Amino acid sequence: MTYDKNNIFAKILRGEIPCKKIYENDFVLSFHDVNPQRKIHALVVPKGSYIDLDDFIKNAKEKEIVEFFKAIPHVAKILKISNIDGGYRTLANIGSNGGQEVPHLHFHIFGGEKIGKMVS
Ligand code: AMP
Repeated sequence: MTYDKNNIFAKILRGEIPCKKIYENDFVLSFHDVNPQRKIHALVVPKGSYIDLDDFIKNAKEKEIVEFFKAIPHVAKILKISNIDGGYRTLANIGSNGGQEVPHLHFHIFGGEKIGKMVS
């Protein structure tokens, strides 16, 4: 499976389409989901071209991996939904059975209210 350079998150990373940015550093970009499923629904994406978590863990440099996972609680802190503020849920969809629609690795962050059942 090859990375599709025209996926929507690749276009956001190239600045070709806008996003509601929450946080950015050399390794990651975080922005609000365009179709929020909870009161707060953010996405965290690596800047490198990785299809999903499998691709990322297999091919990314350790620094990219560390910075990516550090960014998730950092974004939660920015959004004031860390554990001390009530907490949040994070999830990643991988492949068709996982329900992945955009073929660029992303973690969802849900918060701001009770998130509810783990899987529906
Ligand atoms: P997934 O099913 O895990 O691939 O999730 C893809 C997510 O990307 C969905 O929650 C969409 O609402 C979200 N999404 C699609 N296009 C955009 C966009 N232009 N800006 C922000 N979020 C988007």
